[in-house]
Amino acid sequence: MSDVTENILRVRERIAAAAARAGRDPSGVRLMGVTKTVGDDRIRQAIAAGIDIIGENYVQEARRKIELMGKNVEWHFIGHLQTNKAKYAVRLFDMIHSVNRMSLAEELNRRAGAAGVVCRVLIEVNLGGEESKSGAPPDEAPGLIRAVAQMPNLSIRGLMTMAPWYDDPEKARPCFAGLRALRDQIAAENIPNVTMRELSMGMTDDFEVAVEEGSTIVRIGRAIFGERT
Ligand SMILES: *Cc1c(COP(=O)(O)O)cnc(C)c1O
Repeated sequence: MSDVTENILRVRERIAAAAARAGRDPSGVRLMGVTKTVGDDRIRQAIAAGIDIIGENYVQEARRKIELMGKNVEWHFIGHLQTNKAKYAVRLFDMIHSVNRMSLAEELNRRAGAAGVVCRVLIEVNLGGEESKSGAPPDEAPGLIRAVAQMPNLSIRGLMTMAPWYDDPEKARPCFAGLRALRDQIAAENIPNVTMRELSMGMTDDFEVAVEEGSTIVRIGRAIFGERT
């Protein structure tokens, strides 16, 4: 068994244990393999081991990989998306997790319309308050969501966040609980064209806490593929 395959088994066990602690069905948590800088061979091993969502941070890198490996898996965009890459992104990705500003949403909507597709998106929210993280501030997120809901070529499926790095993953819990509370608040508004199904939260260092707090997609790189070079 390859190390990638074994790592995936270990991560799935940890997800299942975290789900059990929270009284959740583990099948409600999807495991994304985050493959920035990861070589093609190891990505293929992950797909062979059952990974069916691949997360990419860079449009160019993703385009090459998608052409090579095909669309039998879902490809999600999770990085900072420059507005001038929107035209490629709407064609390449099954979901874009990092919609964080009005100007990007407008350009995605325009480009999706031109391509004749409806683009599934998550609204990225910065709950940790770090300058370096690129999500919308929590107090601006509801307004952004209501505006994006009016865009016919975008379909909001939920929320995404990246917690700050802490030495103790417990410290990320308020951030994940905050995203869930925001999800519940938005869901209660019943905005047309908005479903709040997905909570994309949890990475290698904090995914168990995120699962306990309701994550539906964990985004895992290093725990599957090892340290990035
Ligand atoms: C790189 C990255 C991940 C995966 O991080 P790991 O710590 O390697 O699991 C998840 N989400 C985003 C947005 C990333 O950029």
